[in-house]
Amino acid sequence: MNQVPSLPLRRKLLLSLAAGATLASPAGLLAKPLYSKARIVILGAGAAGTAMANRLRRSLPSASITLIGARAQHHYQPGYTMIASGLWSPQKVLSNTGQWLSKGIDWLPEDVAVIDPLQQQLNLTNQQQIGYDLLVVATGCQLNYHQIDGFKPELIGQHGIGSVYAGPDGAKATSEQIDALITQGEGRALFTLSDTPIKCAGAPLKMTFTTLSRLEKSGQREQFQLDFFSPYHNRVFAVPTYNDFVLKRWQEQQVGFYDQRRLTGLDASAKRAWFQHSDGTIQQEDYDFIHVVPPMSASDVIRQSDLVWQNGSFANDWLEVDQYSLQHRRYPNVFGVGDVIGTPFGKTAASVKMQAPVAETNILAYLSGQPLTARYNGYTSCPLITSIGRAILSEFGYEGKLMPSFSFIDPTEESWLVWLMKEQMLQPAYNAMLHGKV
Ligand SMILES: Cc1cc2nc3c(=O)[nH]c(=O)nc-3n(C[C@H](O)[C@H](O)[C@H](O)COP(=O)(O)OP(=O)(O)OC[C@H]3O[C@@H](n4cnc5c(N)ncnc54)[C@H](O)[C@@H]3O)c2cc1C
Repeated sequence: MNQVPSLPLRRKLLLSLAAGATLASPAGLLAKPLYSKARIVILGAGAAGTAMANRLRRSLPSASITLIGARAQHHYQPGYTMIASGLWSPQKVLSNTGQWLSKGIDWLPEDVAVIDPLQQQLNLTNQQQIGYDLLVVATGCQLNYHQIDGFKPELIGQHGIGSVYAGPDGAKATSEQIDALITQGEGRALFTLSDTPIKCAGAPLKMTFTTLSRLEKSGQREQFQLDFFSPYHNRVFAVPTYNDFVLKRWQEQQVGFYDQRRLTGLDASAKRAWFQHSDGTIQQEDYDFIHVVPPMSASDVIRQSDLVWQNGSFANDWLEVDQYSLQHRRYPNVFGVGDVIGTPFGKTAASVKMQAPVAETNILAYLSGQPLTARYNGYTSCPLITSIGRAILSEFGYEGKLMPSFSFIDPTEESWLVWLMKEQMLQPAYNAMLHGKV
């Protein structure tokens, strides 16, 4: 049964959200203007790039602010899960990139092709060359579907293949494939996880839970076998509290769990997938529906530049920044925000909300020759949907420390209230973040 919160509780929550308290924003970090003539260039016009452009436009009134990113449409990606669960239409997550940008931001609708941090020079896809004094990298995650043999993104929506990560249309096609599975009346659904860092690490789990809800609603749950394949040992989520919750719940719900198995290939027309076990052996699995989570990395343009981590677990794949200051570790005039950064946690929009004021404050300090004192604590959050109508507000930071924002929400309990946040309240909070207002 859903527990509907009391009216005072709901009022409290709404007030907190209106004040931007949810997704914990570091208080007091709305920067005072600095009068600098610096040429600031921001790469990537997604959640992080847009928020940074709007913030820096305000705090650096005499600097030039150039935003580079070819994507004309802005995607509210947290809504993809709702689309893939059959609850939202793709239109609900789409808007025009330009509508979010304050006056005075010079938006170039091109992608960056080459970054030369030594010369402080960029080449765009239209061959244009641009110099900068300070660079903000916010190019997000690249989906490396091509690393799965036999897989192409065009297969999503056919042969029982789904993937919530593949944009609004891919998410809709995923939902349709789940509908087709239910219509079939029986079958086996496989859910996978990649062994790279991924954005919204809860999304693959949410897809398993909402598919379960849809099967239960159809009245035919017992006709279907659901199996989750994880590349990790006894783990589907990095924070033990949530990992243990999910594994225990799946045991109760008779979801099969197979660990240390990484999806390496599939044959779409045969509906067959191959998983590599950590001991090197290959296992073949037949399915009626498969939810594919691609390996992810920073965009190739970052990986091919000297901005990428040179060693350690993020080497060759993610932007090298100090995990606290968000400043590049070797190029002090480069900062990173959003999914692109190689840090232990931080690939959610809620993380961007926390990172943007930290990066802004440190950029202003850098431009004024002051020490960089603002610190990002790894804050990461997403409502972990446990069924259609219930969710847990997972909030944590570096070292997996739980970081609850609300005294009246238990970070380990599922509730209808948190579902309501996900369904109705997070998008306005996200929009306020894009405007650089929280
Ligand atoms: C299925 C799903 C569910 C999610 N659920 C949640 C949730 O519940 N809560 C939450 O907080 N977060 C959630 N997220 C995560 C959240 O959407 C991301 O963390 C957030 O969008 C990151 O912002 P970003 O700007 O770093 O990346 P993006 O918003 O992806 O933007 C990156 C931008 O960079 C551009 N770009 C790429 N390469 C180049 C280039 N060479 N030159 C110029 N531009 C380039 C891209 O086109 C894009 O516009 C979810 C994500 C997904 C996919």
